[in-house]
Amino acid sequence: MSNQPGMDIGYLKEKRKQALEELHSDEHYDATETLAYGEHDPFDVPVCECDKCGGKPSMTRIKERPARWLMVCSCGNQVKQARRRPWEAALDWNMVNLGTYSYTEMPLFGLASLSPSDAHCRLVSIRANLELRRKIAGLSRVIGQRTGEVDIPGQKFQERLDCYQHWCLWGLRLTKHAKKSERKR
Ligand SMILES: [Zn+2]
Repeated sequence: MSNQPGMDIGYLKEKRKQALEELHSDEHYDATETLAYGEHDPFDVPVCECDKCGGKPSMTRIKERPARWLMVCSCGNQVKQARRRPWEAALDWNMVNLGTYSYTEMPLFGLASLSPSDAHCRLVSIRANLELRRKIAGLSRVIGQRTGEVDIPGQKFQERLDCYQHWCLWGLRLTKHAKKSERKR
């Protein structure tokens, strides 16, 4: 979210109002399959096996201050970019090592009994809702900091939304991967 002083506050408030209206609209409500993602703590990310060697990578702190994290496998397989938060590094790794994990095993979003196509649709609807809520949180932060007129969302709350969003993107990749393997069979 841009925090440059040049950004007109009235414009940001209008954007936030529109986003809240959309969030609370019947259309959005009907299009959102669920808001209950499950009890699982999203920051606790299961780590997938390495697609190249079948091993388990290690969470590696490659930089101290500021800390940067990267999943590295003993075979040399690793993600290109290091991340600020360990959960992000774990999900980055999972997104490019799709060979052994199934979306049906995900402890979030209630996908266990769904076909790849149904799981995909469910995740698309969840992603749209998360994007909207992340946008509102970002706008609320800027407006709250500048004017004090709205509550500034907690850092952890925003990070949680980001984390769910990453899980959702991982899930979408897994459902695509499952559809591809289905066609090959
Ligand atoms: Zn490996």
